[in-house]
Amino acid sequence: MKPAAFDYHRPGTVEEAVGLLAELGDEAKILAGGQSLVPMLSMRLAYFDHLIDISRLPELRGIQARGDQLWIGAGTTETEVGTNAHVRHAVPLLSLATPFVGHFQIRNRGTLGGSIAHADAAGEYPAVALALDAVLEVLSARGRRDIAAADFFTGLWETTMAPDEVLTGVRFPQWDSRSGFAVREFARRHGDFAIAGAVIAVRVDDHGRVSRCAIGLLGLGATPKRATAAETAVTGVPLFEVIPEEVGRAAMSGLDDIPSDLQGSAAYRSRVGAAMTARAWTQAAQQASAGATYA
Ligand SMILES: Cc1cc2nc3c(=O)[nH]c(=O)nc-3n(C[C@H](O)[C@H](O)[C@H](O)COP(=O)(O)OP(=O)(O)OC[C@H]3O[C@@H](n4cnc5c(N)ncnc54)[C@H](O)[C@@H]3O)c2cc1C
Repeated sequence: MKPAAFDYHRPGTVEEAVGLLAELGDEAKILAGGQSLVPMLSMRLAYFDHLIDISRLPELRGIQARGDQLWIGAGTTETEVGTNAHVRHAVPLLSLATPFVGHFQIRNRGTLGGSIAHADAAGEYPAVALALDAVLEVLSARGRRDIAAADFFTGLWETTMAPDEVLTGVRFPQWDSRSGFAVREFARRHGDFAIAGAVIAVRVDDHGRVSRCAIGLLGLGATPKRATAAETAVTGVPLFEVIPEEVGRAAMSGLDDIPSDLQGSAAYRSRVGAAMTARAWTQAAQQASAGATYA
C-alpha cells in the first residue's frame, strides 16, 4: 500500500525543523529513519499532511563523552550505535541491545531517537534508556528542556514530548568496570519485536555485594517498565546469594498491564518475562563478578 499524499520538507537545521513544526502544527510529523513511521503511513494507520525529514541533519548525529555521561545524537543510526567502540565501552547495554532491534536493514536507517520517540513498549532502546536513567534532550521553538526517561514514557506509543518538540539527543550515565550487563528477550523469529525481555545492569562493591542494580522490562506493559521491586530486593545482597529465578519472579510482581494478544496471553508473557530476567541476571552477575576485585 502507499501512504496518502503529503508535503515533504527537508530543513537544513534543527532550528528550522522546530520552526516548521510550530508553523504547521498537528498536521506535521518528524521523519527520521522512517522504519516505524513509513509502515504506519503506508498501511494508512496514520496520516500527516507534512513530513519534516531530519535524517540528514549532522547536528543530530554523533557520539560524545560529556563528563560521566555519553551523549548520542537522536539521529544516530541504530547500526552506528551498535558498532561504535565508545558505546561498547561506556554504555555496553546499548551495544548488547542493538542486535535485537529488527534486522540490519532496519538498523541501517532506524535511529536511536526515532526508536525512543516512537516509544514502543517492546522496543529495546526505550527499555535501556529507562533502566539507565537516561536524560532525553528536546527542542522546540519555545526552547530546550531535559526529560528524565522515568518521566518520558506515558502510554502505548505515547510520551511527554509535545507535538512541536524534537528529540535532539540522549545522555546515558556510564557505569564503572565493577558492573555487568545483559539483554535477554524472546521473540518467535529473530528480528521480530520481543514477546518479553529484560535488560539488566548490576554493580558490585568491594565486598561482593550488589551496590546498584537497574532492570528494564520490554513487552510487559503499555510502556517499557522498571522492575523496581527486584532492584530493591537484590541491592545490598552478596551477588552469589541472589537466586536468579527469584529476581525473575520479583521483576514480574506489580506489573498490571501486561498485554494479551495473538503473540501470547498476559500469563504467558509473564512466565517468559520472568525467565528472561533470570537469564539476564545470571549473565550480568557473572560479568560483574569477573570485573570486580573484592577486598
Ligand atoms: C520489520 C520491523 C521490525 C522491527 N523490529 C524492532 C525491534 O525488534 N525492536 C525495536 O526496538 N524496533 C524495531 N523496529 C522499529 C525500528 O527500531 C525503528 O527504526 C524505530 O522504532 C524508529 O526509528 P526511525 O528512526 O526509523 O523513526 P521513524 O520511523 O522515522 O519515526 C518514528 C516515530 O518517532 C518520531 N520521531 C523520530 N525521530 C524523532 C525525533 N528526533 N524527535 C521527535 N520525534 C521523532 C516520528 O515522528 C514518528 O512518530 C522494527 C521495524 C520494522 C519495520
